[in-house]
Amino acid sequence: MKLSRLESIDKCGLPVNPYFIVAGPCSAESREQILAIAKTLASEKISCFRAGAWKPRTSPGSFEGFGEKALDWLVEARDLYKIDVCTEVALPQHVEACLERNIRVAWIGARTTSSPFAVQELANAMKGTDMCVLVKNPICPEVKLWIGAIERIYNSGITKIVAVHRGFSMPAKSNYRYPPLWNLVDEFRKYLPAIPLICDPSHICGNTAFIKNIIQKTLKFRYDGYMIEVHNFPALAMTDRAQQLSLTGFHNILGELREFNEIITKYTQSL
Ligand code: PEP
Ligand code: MN
Repeated sequence: MKLSRLESIDKCGLPVNPYFIVAGPCSAESREQILAIAKTLASEKISCFRAGAWKPRTSPGSFEGFGEKALDWLVEARDLYKIDVCTEVALPQHVEACLERNIRVAWIGARTTSSPFAVQELANAMKGTDMCVLVKNPICPEVKLWIGAIERIYNSGITKIVAVHRGFSMPAKSNYRYPPLWNLVDEFRKYLPAIPLICDPSHICGNTAFIKNIIQKTLKFRYDGYMIEVHNFPALAMTDRAQQLSLTGFHNILGELREFNEIITKYTQSL
C-alpha cells in the first residue's frame, strides 16, 4: 500500500472538516428517527452518516435490525440532506443490497473482522466496486486479524479503506466496555502506516459519561477522525442505549474537536 494517510482519506471523497467524522445512531430504528438525526448531522457537516441496518447480536432473539427497509430510509436521508451514508455489512448480500442503492460506504464490524472466511466473502462481493470500507478492529486483542482483514479487502481491489479502533474485549473488569489498548494501536500503525485510522469512543466507553474523557486521551495519538454514536432520544435507543450521545452532546464534542484542531494547526504553523 503506497498511499499516504492523507491521500487515502482524500480518495474516499468524503468531506473532512477538519476530522473525518462518521456519526449517527447505533441502529436504524424508524424512518422518522433516521431523517431527524440525519438532518441535524448534515447541518453539522460530518463526513458520513451511519446507522446499522443489520445488527450482529450476541444473543439470538435480540433486535437484529430492519435490514433492507432501513437501507431505504438511509437512501431517503442521503438524497434529502445531501449527505453520504453508511451501514454495517456482514454478509455478501448486505454488500449487494447497498450497491443496488448506490450506498458506497460500509463498515465491517468487530465480530466480522474476527472471521477471515467471512471477510473474504465480503471482499469478493466488493471486488470491482469503488466502495469505501471502514474496517473495525476485531473484538479480541489480535492485531494480525485486523491487518489480515484489511489486506483481504485491499487485495480485492478496494483502495478506499479506513481502519476503526473500537477497543477490545478483555476479561478483566474495566470502566470501559471495550478497553482501548493503545499499544496494539501503535502496533497496527507500524504495520499499516498509510491506512487512515479513526477512533470509535462510543464502543470503547459503552457509556456517554466517559466519552469526553476518552476523546481527550486520543488527541495525542493524532487520529484522522472519529466514529461516534448519536441518537435523537438516547434513552429510548433499541441498541447500545448507554453510549449514544444526544444531538446536543455531539454538537459540543464536535466543537471541542474543532477547537483542538485549530490550536494544533496554529502551533504547527508557528514552528
Ligand atoms: C456498531 O458500530 O454499532 C457496532 C456493532 O460496532 P462493533 O462492531 O464495533 O461492535
Ligand atoms: Mn453500536
